[in-house]
Amino acid sequence: SSAVLSSLARRYAASDDLPSTFALDSLFDLLEGKVAIVTGGASGIGESTARLFARQGAKVIIADIQDEMGQEVCREIVGDGGMASYVHCDVSSEADVQAAVETSLRSHARLDVMFNNAGTVGEYRSHLDFDRSDFEKVFAVNVIGVFLGIKHAGRAMASTGRGSIINTASIASVMGAMATIPYTASKHAVVGLTRDAAVELGHYGVRVNCVSPNYLASFLTSSFLGMDARAMEEVTEKCSVLRAAALKAQDIAEAVLYLASDESRYVNGHNLVVDGGYTTTNPSLGAHLFASSS
Ligand code: NAD
Repeated sequence: SSAVLSSLARRYAASDDLPSTFALDSLFDLLEGKVAIVTGGASGIGESTARLFARQGAKVIIADIQDEMGQEVCREIVGDGGMASYVHCDVSSEADVQAAVETSLRSHARLDVMFNNAGTVGEYRSHLDFDRSDFEKVFAVNVIGVFLGIKHAGRAMASTGRGSIINTASIASVMGAMATIPYTASKHAVVGLTRDAAVELGHYGVRVNCVSPNYLASFLTSSFLGMDARAMEEVTEKCSVLRAAALKAQDIAEAVLYLASDESRYVNGHNLVVDGGYTTTNPSLGAHLFASSS
């Protein structure tokens, strides 16, 4: 993007390492030589991130349960000159997650980035009616899946003294009643897992962070809310603190790229909330309190 170009141009201008031959491609190599697994990479945020990682030079492994969609994304990435392959992986299965990490080590002899992004939301119901088994289904993906991803990627990375693990949380990790009950609980748990792992794996040089998107249009949100993308974006734009076009999966991919790359080499245990400032205030109370003075 032009933002990346200008920030890199500024960085080169401020340093002594201006390349003698200015090669445009060298500006798009934040993940050059790195290998990244993206869970939930067949769709939405994971798909956007897989595509961006590949454009930044990474060899990407998409791990998902939607095999045809995941393979199609890989074909398109390869068609665009990137490197990508697909593994079937249900993140709630330890054997599958372990096999995905082993695929990376076998095919590329390394794993640099693990994006634990696969998630599910369940159905919206009251605390008074929620079934235990439905609660557990969401936890199996959103919490156990992240736990397993950290465990197996962490094992592969610890001995090398480097690596970046990023987990997808949500604004539901810092506030209540924004989605389903197990979703809120699971995304709070992702922050806990992230902080705990950051401390332990930090000793090995492995960083663990999470990203917390606000609502954006994706298959997950459209099917959960029963709204098409445009209707959802109208609502989120109306409720946004920041005057800007609606949040897109690409915006989250850019945040994840930062956490994956060496640009964030000292960032560890952080929950990067990408919400246009939404969770920093209470818009409904503020509107009532200050309505007369504005
Ligand atoms: P999406 O439905 O477009 O993508 C989710 C992907 O995860 C799909 O490809 C799906 O097949 C995969 N997946 C689901 N269960 C899986 C499993 N057991 N194993 C492997 N893969 C599995 O939705 P999205 O909006 O891109 O969601 C991605 C992540 O972002 C989720 O963790 C979600 O909770 C989180 N998130 C989304 C939003 C939003 O508004 N879209 C906001 C905050 C957080």
